[in-house]
Order: sequence, then structure tokens, then C-alpha cells
Amino acid sequence: MAENLESLTSCPVCSGQTFTPFIACKDYTVSRGTFEIVSCGTCGFVATSPRPAEAEAYKYYQSEDYISHSNTRKGLINKVYAWVRNHSIKKKENLLKQYTKGRRLLDHGCGTGEFLDYCQKHGWDTMGLEPGDDARGQAISNYGLSVIKETEINSLEEKRFDAITLWHVLEHVYPLNERIQKLKSLLKDDGVLIVAVPNHNTAEEKKYREFWAAYDVPRHIWHFDQTSMKDLMKNNGLEVITVKPMVFDAYYISMVSEGYKNGKGGLVAMLSGFWAGFISNSHARGTGEYSSLIYVIKKL
Ligand SMILES: [Zn+2]
Repeated sequence: MAENLESLTSCPVCSGQTFTPFIACKDYTVSRGTFEIVSCGTCGFVATSPRPAEAEAYKYYQSEDYISHSNTRKGLINKVYAWVRNHSIKKKENLLKQYTKGRRLLDHGCGTGEFLDYCQKHGWDTMGLEPGDDARGQAISNYGLSVIKETEINSLEEKRFDAITLWHVLEHVYPLNERIQKLKSLLKDDGVLIVAVPNHNTAEEKKYREFWAAYDVPRHIWHFDQTSMKDLMKNNGLEVITVKPMVFDAYYISMVSEGYKNGKGGLVAMLSGFWAGFISNSHARGTGEYSSLIYVIKKL
């Protein structure tokens, strides 16, 4: 499957050009190939390298198991995931209300549109951006949402949005700094950028290492921690004003990781994963290093 792999030549956080091996992980959901993850020799930022060329990345999203962008309710863990997703949509919208004045929202990477649909029904003027043709089509036909392709982002007027959200999306975006700059230009001066990504500096990663499901190679090309996210935003004239936990992610990621590590699925992985997720969150209450973090970001 991996016809064209390309190595990272420059760190998007510090422009450093030396990289050291960090960990190697298997792609469990689509290709079954192994991918190297490296860390920047200068600032420590962690990235998948080599990685599929951007034009071929779509091939690694073609699986029924890749549920983040589809609605399939297959298997016990996926059912739990769907339930939690519905529950967490409400929490996400509450967070948005807390940090914004106006109600113009862009959800970048809106998938099949469940979050945007909820927001639209709760008074938001919504727009979605979704690169996946199937997901975008579903968002439009299921909910009547306004959803653009990735290439159409350049046609949007500047300073249009009060809030731009990226729920587990930035770790997939190839032109990282370029896209952050674009999103900044689309935000009003008092607008808020909300970025949720996995956090590899979590106790849960220490437990699962190469089996930690949130590495999700090669779809995740960037692997953030709090330091790299803050530096990346600062370089782009943005500031992380607060960091919030996503407590459900520890359970979901641990359940999937159990399956990868022990080859077990269903109830066994679910129970061991639930316990591991509980331990992960207990640990993170002391350190702040949850499995996934939500960064609330404003213009400097
Ligand atoms: Zn670096």
C-alpha cells in the first residue's frame, strides 16, 4: 500500500533538521504496515516519518474499522464509542459557549456532522469542512449542513468566525503551520480556536507504548504534548489560554490498545481497557497529562 513514503525534513515547531528514532508502531486498522515515529533532535517534537505522501494519505482511511469518520456501529467497543460521542457533543458545545461571544462556528474536520448538527439546533451559525467525500456527503444529506471541501477553505472571508473547532483533526493535517495561519486569519480578533488532540506524554502511553492506539499511524502524522502545542501556537501568533481534559478518551483508547496488545476484543478488552482508562485518568488528575487534551487558544 505504501508506494510513496516521504521523510520529514524540517520540524514544524522549531525548524530543526535532525531526528532520532522514538518508537515504531503498526497500523492495525488499514494497512497492517509498520511506521516509524521520530522526535526532533532540537525541540523533541514527535512525528510519523517516513509517512505516506499527502496525495496518497486517503488510502489509509479506507477501512470499515476506521470509525472516527463514519457512523458504523459495529462491535461492542464501537457501540460504546458512539454512545460516548453523543454524550460528549453536549459537553463540547458547552465549552464553546463558555469561551465565545458570537455564534459563528467552523468545525474543521466535521466528519459526518453530528457535532455541527447539534450546534446548529442550539443556535449556532455553522459551517463544516471535511476532506472525506463520503463523510461530507453524509453530513450534507443527513443533516442539511453547509460543508465545504478542504480546497475551498481559501474562498472563505477573513475574520468570519467566533469559533473554529478541530476535534482530533490537527494530528492529521499535513500543511501544519500553513493551516494554523489560515485558521487564524478566519478567526475574529476575539475568536477562539479549540484544538483537541491525543497527548503522548500520558501515563497511558507508558503502559501501552507501541500499542497505544492514539498513535494511529500513519493517519496521525503529528504527535503532540503540551509543550509542543504551546510552542507551535506561539510561533503562529496564538496563545493557549487553557487546557481541558477529555476523560472519556482514556477509556476508549485503552480499550482499543488492549485489543492491539493482547489480541483480544469484545468484553475482555473492554473490561481491561475500562480499568486502564480509570487508572490513566486517576493519574492524570495529579499531573494534568490526560490521554487527550482540549486546547483553548486565542490570538496573541
Ligand atoms: Zn523541533
